Amino acid sequence: MTPIEGLDVSVYRVPTDLPEADGTLAWDATTLVLAEPVAGGQVGVGFTYSSRASATVIVDHLREVVVGRDVEETGTCWEAMVRAIRNFGRPGVVSAAIAAVDLALWDLKAKVVGVSLAELLGPAREAAPIYGSGGFTTYTIEQLREQLGGWIDHGMSDVKMKIGGDWGRHPAVDLGRVAAARDAIGAEAGLFVDANGAYTRKQAIRLARHLRERGVTWFEEPVSSDDLSGLRVVRDRSDVDVAAGEYGYDLVYFERMCAAGAVDVLQADVTRCAGLTEWLRVAAVADAHGLELSGHCAPSMHLAPACAIRNLRHLEYFHDHVRLERALFDGVSTPENGSLRPDLTRPGNGLELKRSTAEQFLVDTTARSNAS
Ligand SMILES: [Mg+2]
Repeated sequence: MTPIEGLDVSVYRVPTDLPEADGTLAWDATTLVLAEPVAGGQVGVGFTYSSRASATVIVDHLREVVVGRDVEETGTCWEAMVRAIRNFGRPGVVSAAIAAVDLALWDLKAKVVGVSLAELLGPAREAAPIYGSGGFTTYTIEQLREQLGGWIDHGMSDVKMKIGGDWGRHPAVDLGRVAAARDAIGAEAGLFVDANGAYTRKQAIRLARHLRERGVTWFEEPVSSDDLSGLRVVRDRSDVDVAAGEYGYDLVYFERMCAAGAVDVLQADVTRCAGLTEWLRVAAVADAHGLELSGHCAPSMHLAPACAIRNLRHLEYFHDHVRLERALFDGVSTPENGSLRPDLTRPGNGLELKRSTAEQFLVDTTARSNAS
C-alpha cells in the first residue's frame, strides 16, 4: 500500500489573448483549478476548468476522504468523493472538483507504478485525432480566417467555429462568417459549428439546411442541450451530425441523452464529468447506444483516456485551453498530422507544472495548505 499523504489545491486565472465569446457567453479569462495529491514521493497533476468554488469543494469536502487511502485505489477514492458530496449536489462545480482530484489521482497512480497513464489505462490506439476549435463570435473575419486556416495549414483536417452570436439573433451574419471560414480552409477541410444552445428549434432547422450547403458536417448544441427532444428534432431534419454533452456531470445525464436519440455523436468533458473514472463509463454508455464519443476541450486531460476507448471520434483542440496548458505545463503533447500522441516515456500524464511561470496567475493561496 502506498498511502496518499496530502492533497494541495491551487487556482490560476489566465486572461484570454483576445476577447472571447460564443452564442450565449462571453469571457476574458479562464480559471484552472489544479489538484496535486502526494504519494510515494510523487506528485499527481489533475485539473478542471471551473470556478474557484471547485477548489473550496476540494479543500472542505474531498481532501479529507482521499488522504490516507491507497493511491492505487482510484475506484474507492472516487466512490468516497461522490458519497461525501451527496448533500451539496453532484452537477457543476462539485463534479468539476471531483474531476480534478480523480484525474490527479490517476496521474499519481501511474507515476507510483512507474508507467505512462496511457499504458496504465491500456491503449486502444496510439494517438487521438483532434480538431482545431475556436473561431469565437468576437473575432473579426480576418482573425477567424487566420485561426481556422492556420490549423488546416498545420495538418488538421477539421476545424470548429462558434456561431449564434447574441443568442442567435443574427443568423445571416452567422452564415456570412461560415462562408468566410469555408473560403479560408478550402473545400476539402471539415467545418464544424457550435451554437452553444443559442437558437430556437425552427431557427436551427432552417440554419442546418444552409450550413449543409456550405459543407458543414457537425452542428453542436443547435438548441439548448437540456432540450433533448429539440436536439432530436434538429437531428431528424438534417443530415449534419448533431453533437452535445459538454454540460454532462454524471452517468445518468449521458444515458438520458443517448436514450432520447438526441445526438449523432456524444460529447463529454473529463474535467467536468467527475473525472477519468466516469468518462470511461460514459464512453461505454455511448458505445452501447452505437455512438462515438468526442472529448470536450482540455486536450491534455483527455489524451490518455481517449487512447483507451474503442469508440473515440476525436478530441477538441480548444484554442483557449491549448494556450493555457502550454503556458502552465511542460510535457504538453504537440499535434502531428492532426493527432495528439501520449509520450509513453514520461510517467503519468506527462504534465509538469511550470511553477515559476504559473505563479503570476495564482489567485487563491488560502486553499493551498495541506490537510495531512
Ligand atoms: Mg461546445
